[in-house]
Amino acid sequence: MELLLSDAHCHSNPVKGLGARTIAKKFRSSGGWFIALVSLPPYHYGIEGFSIDSYMKAYELVIKEANILREEGLKTKVIVGFHPAEVDEYFRRGWHLEDIILHAQKIINKIVELHKRGLVDGIGEVGRQHYSTAPARFITSELIMWYALEIARDHDMIVHLHLEQGGYPTVKSIKKYLLDHNIPENKVLLHHATYNEAYWAEKENLWYSIPAKKKLLEKVLKQKPLHVLTESDFIDDPRRPGVSSYPWDIAVLLKELLNKGVVDEEYVYKIEVDNIVNFYRVEPP
Ligand SMILES: [Zn+2]
Ligand SMILES: [Zn+2]
Repeated sequence: MELLLSDAHCHSNPVKGLGARTIAKKFRSSGGWFIALVSLPPYHYGIEGFSIDSYMKAYELVIKEANILREEGLKTKVIVGFHPAEVDEYFRRGWHLEDIILHAQKIINKIVELHKRGLVDGIGEVGRQHYSTAPARFITSELIMWYALEIARDHDMIVHLHLEQGGYPTVKSIKKYLLDHNIPENKVLLHHATYNEAYWAEKENLWYSIPAKKKLLEKVLKQKPLHVLTESDFIDDPRRPGVSSYPWDIAVLLKELLNKGVVDEEYVYKIEVDNIVNFYRVEPP
């Protein structure tokens, strides 16, 4: 039995970690066919500074990494953005909140240019901090997210949202914003959802991806939801092993669930292939 598996949200770091080549080979041999590759902040790749140029260098690196994934036979989409944790990082370095917002907006405008050149497919991660931070910094992140969502709507781009894990209010606040601003729901992914966000996102017909963690995967998938994707959220940082999971964990865990009879092959195909084809608009494998 050959399963086809996908990673809806993954990072690679060719400077400090395994990089795309190794990730692709290992993921392919576990049954992987698709990875959505998401940028990390420039300083994760050892790129100095916070200028727009630093971001462009980081994004170029992600685009190159995605090409390597393709060379290794995987399908991929490229998502680059401005992570909410960066708001806190900038603040610690003395930036004013209004300057952080303007800077992030300029970066998002540059992402649109990359998209017009066919180099990237979406904006992400943007969103709100999942940890405690000052209320004003949380709202700063939120303003950047709203901007990204509207820009993405205007240019037909995907958005990966990184959100606080608040269940109902987390999902409802996004749903309301999408409705109020005519943002197509089928372009927005609530990434790294826990059980509660998955539960409410499913009810609201929003797409979400769940990290490859044993208990979570079982709890969510046994309900047979329709809008679910699986992700590793691998950060490819050997100094922080196990922060999330590995792309190949998706194979291990789904096989366990198949063996336990929690899911069947038809359902696995639906979430690992059909849902990716629908959400990312890629050709099936
Ligand atoms: Zn995230
Ligand atoms: Zn991530």
